[in-house]
Amino acid sequence: MHETPDKPRGAATAASKARAPQTVAATNGIVSNDVFGAVTPPLYLTSTFAFKDFEHSRGYDYSRAGNPSRDLLADTLARLEGGAGAVVVSSGMAAIDLVLSQLGRDDLVVAPHDCYGGTYRLLAARRDRGHFDVAFVDQNDAEALSAVLKRAPALVLLETPSNPLMRVVDIAAIAERAKAAGAKVAVDNTFLSPALQRPISLGADFVIHSTTKYLNGHSDVVGGAVIAADKSDVEALSAWASTTGVTGAPFDAYLTLRGLRSLFPRIERQQANAGAVADFLTRQQQVAAVHYPGLETHSGHAVAARQQSGFGAMLSFELAGGLEAARSFVEAVQVFTLAESLGGVESLVVHPATMTHASMAPEARRHAGIGDGLLRLSIGLEAEADLLNDIETALAAVSSRRQP
Ligand SMILES: *Cc1c(COP(=O)(O)O)cnc(C)c1O
Repeated sequence: MHETPDKPRGAATAASKARAPQTVAATNGIVSNDVFGAVTPPLYLTSTFAFKDFEHSRGYDYSRAGNPSRDLLADTLARLEGGAGAVVVSSGMAAIDLVLSQLGRDDLVVAPHDCYGGTYRLLAARRDRGHFDVAFVDQNDAEALSAVLKRAPALVLLETPSNPLMRVVDIAAIAERAKAAGAKVAVDNTFLSPALQRPISLGADFVIHSTTKYLNGHSDVVGGAVIAADKSDVEALSAWASTTGVTGAPFDAYLTLRGLRSLFPRIERQQANAGAVADFLTRQQQVAAVHYPGLETHSGHAVAARQQSGFGAMLSFELAGGLEAARSFVEAVQVFTLAESLGGVESLVVHPATMTHASMAPEARRHAGIGDGLLRLSIGLEAEADLLNDIETALAAVSSRRQP
């Protein structure tokens, strides 16, 4: 038995630090088992670790607190996001809750008015239990943002692009103002991944991921992570995750790292497909609006072009025919699958009004700009021609229903 466990954390040499993120994603931690020379890092499927001798562990003692497979995923994510470290947890919601766990009763959280539905529910539930106060604001509304920053919030949470309308906010500008007001800044980077956006380089203190989406990318794991810019934040979050037991399972971490190996080529191909789909949709008469930051007509195009290194593979569009048109469309598609979630290799379509945003009151949905004819697409790795043909066929079904 070798004495030094394969602990990837903190062991970066100057050379490995300089490696490009594509190389980090594809190779971080390979050939790290010096017993057999396994190229792929082993899955440490164990709940507990033998002590070397009395009073001395080998660095790991119990998998809730620490596990080499989970730590290797955390180390890879921290490198990709440019953070001091990361904590891998059981879901994206657990990741958001981990950041919120640092707040106290008198603290204020500023969140986007159009944040992810699960985030809205969590923030509202914790506020109602008196854990902290929350203000939901349109962060592109300069006056509303100024007013809420005067209340000295402890945390400003950003989500860009937003779901499902792909609204974009300027991370660097908001982070600067939030920090001047004494707040910490957290960015939910789930929709883009570090391949396309690195919030810490734009001033964020925390990056949150639902690794369920692009990072794993194969729709077979639910998981989450928080990456922190500051070492002391990493330590505090890591200790709390172990205390509450929300740390992710080693097997899930192994699968997520396996998915993450191909993050860059997946997202490059998926966003190329998304650009083609967005472009195609803008030329269809049944389509009233297309929401994709890559389109020059999109309100967030300039900011997205500046702060992102690509426009991503998520988009939404509004069918002029409303609910019935949306029904016809989703009943006609064959390459796209009607399902929630996103970021996998397969293309998915969601009808927000009856699925992801069904719990919102109709009036609130309208206020948020989510019409009954709105459809959200997560574009996958299929051949571009198959995606476009599928959409064309489904739009023809919409037209034929409209003119019987
Ligand atoms: C899916 C998602 C979450 C929640 O993640 P889970 O892994 O489902 O818990 C949070 N934020 C965004 C933007 C998401 O898309």
